[in-house]
Amino acid sequence: MDYLDLEAERLKLDPQEAKVCLKCDRCNAEIYENQEYYLYERDCLCEQCFDEIQSDEKKECERIAGEDNGD
Ligand SMILES: [Zn+2]
Repeated sequence: MDYLDLEAERLKLDPQEAKVCLKCDRCNAEIYENQEYYLYERDCLCEQCFDEIQSDEKKECERIAGEDNGD
């Protein structure tokens, strides 16, 4: 866990102290100053939404060798 993670954790616990900079375009969660976020196809995403998108895309790309996956 690096400094930024610790800072994000601290801000989560103490939201009044943090300044809201952005909102997640997907779940509308507030993204605070110094908190990490992800720019994905021009949307600002919180870490959680970005993880969800990534795992969705991973599932779409998943194939099993030897199985017929043709459309
Ligand atoms: Zn989100």
